[in-house]
Amino acid sequence: MTREPLLLSTARQAAEYLDGLDVRPVGATATPGELRTRLGHPLTDLGIPDEQVIGDLIRDSTGGLLGSAGGRFYGWVIGGSLPAALAADWLVSTWDQNAALYACSPAEAIIEEICRVWLVDLLGLPSTAAVALVTGCQTAHTTCLAAARHRQLSALGWDVEVDGLAGAPRLRVLTTAQAHASITRSARLLGLGSGCIRSVAGDDLGRMSPAALGAALAEQSGPTIVILLAGDINTGRYDPFEDLVPMAHDAGAWVHVDGAFGLWAAASPTRRHQLAGVAAADSWATDAHKWLNVPYDSGIAICADPAALTAAMGVRASYLTHAGDQTRDQIDWNPEWSRRGRGVPIYAALRSLGRTGIADLVERTCRAATSLTRQLGALPGAELLADPVVNQGLIRFLDPLEIDHDAWTDHVIGRIQAEGTAWFGGTNWNGMRAMRISVCGWSTTDTDVEQAVAAVARTVASESAIRRAAATTSTSAS
Ligand SMILES: *Cc1c(COP(=O)(O)O)cnc(C)c1O
Repeated sequence: MTREPLLLSTARQAAEYLDGLDVRPVGATATPGELRTRLGHPLTDLGIPDEQVIGDLIRDSTGGLLGSAGGRFYGWVIGGSLPAALAADWLVSTWDQNAALYACSPAEAIIEEICRVWLVDLLGLPSTAAVALVTGCQTAHTTCLAAARHRQLSALGWDVEVDGLAGAPRLRVLTTAQAHASITRSARLLGLGSGCIRSVAGDDLGRMSPAALGAALAEQSGPTIVILLAGDINTGRYDPFEDLVPMAHDAGAWVHVDGAFGLWAAASPTRRHQLAGVAAADSWATDAHKWLNVPYDSGIAICADPAALTAAMGVRASYLTHAGDQTRDQIDWNPEWSRRGRGVPIYAALRSLGRTGIADLVERTCRAATSLTRQLGALPGAELLADPVVNQGLIRFLDPLEIDHDAWTDHVIGRIQAEGTAWFGGTNWNGMRAMRISVCGWSTTDTDVEQAVAAVARTVASESAIRRAAATTSTSAS
């Protein structure tokens, strides 16, 4: 049986999908009911031909996909896929290796070794740091914090890997109110509980205040993890690592950094000053599927002390074939057992861009975010809330009737999404509703920015006119 016709026709349709991103609505257009009706085929007793399975899948999903792989998607923190990374991801599925052990896939094990060296270099982190390629930043947090839990408790003579947490000294986590919700979930998954998290006050921009951290560290002794933020999802701001990391270390705390996207600023000579002092931390979590534009799912856990990471993650079983000192077995660093060859698309992305290409990706997306935020924030009826320090900005819309800016902001965001030229999402920020402007995609061009600004300007103008007209009508009717 030849597989070639099916695979080639699928590849052709995939390329057509990508080529069409520029002209299709960026948002989803199908309703849940439509998708259920279309996709809800009976599961038949006899299978159906492969070509039909794929053809139906493509047809039935139409309108139910977001154009997040294109140049005018500015929602959440979501990148596209670099062509080389996407093609390499196809190879990962084609090769179908279990990248758990060197013995299961020698090439993929060596690729991950090489990715480790390249990644810590590009991110400006210690050259001896251990790396685990995981599903996403959420899992990278859990992986790093398992290493932190190990070291902080073993320093007190408690073997958490053997004895668990019942009866152990209580760990506390110090972080700011800006901490991403994935931190809380990692605390839950690790048995620390969300109650272990203490909020440390920030400055007026939400960055952790050194004075407040000093007070929190002094207030209570005991095993502590300080979690700092490299790139807040709303404003892109960074905690002042140079001040905070030495303070935390003086108090014996482990410092973990959430750099899901923000750590990549290290690759750009013009942006890396945001990260000064970050390399002195103990662990870092980031993503390849956001700013590096690698397909999902691709997170990166980095730990300065390799022994702490393997103490938390290492496994032995009689049927596994360990490579010994020859090379690394990914299973000893990762929380997963069987896993896909996640290093392959990262390897391809890094080679295809090169150092200057990665710096350029970071700088171009930062410039596009700044351009969008300033132009949109300057529109009549809009207000700029946070000028980007990297690739995240915030604006809001002002109710023409001055009644409810929050509800109006949400209304306008909904209309922009429905208009289809570009896609932005909403957030709560400083007690108000705001529109987030997040640029991560490699394919965003100046033309995309122009088209997005024009579309938002049209939508705000027409919605404002409708609202004013409705108010006039209701006033004259009453
Ligand atoms: C996206 C994000 C996360 C979660 O990362 P996943 O890759 O979705 O698991 C954590 N922290 C920050 C700051 C993020 O932007």
